[in-house]
Amino acid sequence: MSFDPAALRRQFPLLAGDPELHYLDNAATAQLPQAVLDALVAHETHARANVQRGSYPLAEGATEAYERARESVRRFLNAGRADEVVFTSGTTAAINVFAHAFGARLAAGDEIVITRAEHHSNFVPWQLLRERRGAALRVLPLAGDGRIDLARLAEAVTARCRLIAITHASNVTGALTDLAAVVSAARAVGARVLVDGAQAAQHGPLDVQRLGVDAYAFSGHKCFGPNGVGVLWVRRELLESLPPVFAGGGMVGRVSLEETTFADAPARFEAGTPPIAQAVGLAAALEWMLSLPWAEIRAHEERLARRLLAALAGMDDVAILGPRETRERLPIVAFNLRGIHSHDLTQVLGDGGVCLRGGHHCAQPLHAAFGVEASVRASFALYNDDADIDALIAGLAAARRTLR
Ligand code: PLP
Repeated sequence: MSFDPAALRRQFPLLAGDPELHYLDNAATAQLPQAVLDALVAHETHARANVQRGSYPLAEGATEAYERARESVRRFLNAGRADEVVFTSGTTAAINVFAHAFGARLAAGDEIVITRAEHHSNFVPWQLLRERRGAALRVLPLAGDGRIDLARLAEAVTARCRLIAITHASNVTGALTDLAAVVSAARAVGARVLVDGAQAAQHGPLDVQRLGVDAYAFSGHKCFGPNGVGVLWVRRELLESLPPVFAGGGMVGRVSLEETTFADAPARFEAGTPPIAQAVGLAAALEWMLSLPWAEIRAHEERLARRLLAALAGMDDVAILGPRETRERLPIVAFNLRGIHSHDLTQVLGDGGVCLRGGHHCAQPLHAAFGVEASVRASFALYNDDADIDALIAGLAAARRTLR
């Protein structure tokens, strides 16, 4: 299949219906293609029932669709087994579930390594765990180029390290993490690796077996799927050993007045009615992604990022946060325009149809490392094109006139 961004854009009703809309906030959430909308409507229209409970055909069909969705996630992640996939409400929930389950067996003095580049979702749960369990946190700093300083891994990962929780890609700088280096540092001391894949998953199918990590979290809504669903993938041998976090229906074996036994994973981690239609919609999104030519899409996204980085580098009132080159990065570019607040800038751009995010992007420790409170972020997905960059550059010129 050859790749034509304009044809792809036509598959997205919200974008196709408004040629003047320049949606460059894909790191916050991606739009929904018709295939996913169709799958959601079809499920809710013809197959809606609760799962894992009823024995009538409609309920059995819903359960089958939900379990097929697990298999689609397995394919997208190239995981070994579908029963390694836990559905959650998103990346944040996935990381919190893992922090509670994995954290339950940590002792005072055990260490967790995180980084200064983390989204608050992969930062604050570990601070809370530090308070609950007395675990120690070690935070890898940023290097001069704004990437995570992996040269400091050897020093940060001590014999007391139990877990490295690290982002696959920064939601601010777009910098990708060299996970091979992280995994090898963890293995040297018998520690585990949890990866926050919220950003990376939007840019093509993954291979958790090749990455060699132990756990991987991502959100449906950033991968052209619905809100309210996400994934916690955990290597089977580790998942089986983890205790439940939330308790309720669907996660038990037998409940008596005296005691409760628990279901096997993944049901053990999916208490209550799960996000059923959302999981079906996510599966449609991931199957849709699996059908696309990713080498061409990545080249296209990289070209867009290169063009924007070059344009911004040529403006003497712009400061880019993080790497200025496209090597090992996602098409996410954060910057500041001297003397203009990020919220004022995104408002003026927004009035012109250019949708960018302003603020700290839930990454305050990272912004503090750059000596700023906030930034403006442009993030590209596969349906963006040069017209979006033209509109952004024209919008920056207009904002300078209006706001200075
Ligand atoms: N981690 C990263 C790197 C993110 O960019 C985000 C969302 O922006 C999250 C975690 C949290 O994702 P969600 O809000 O879907 O739970």
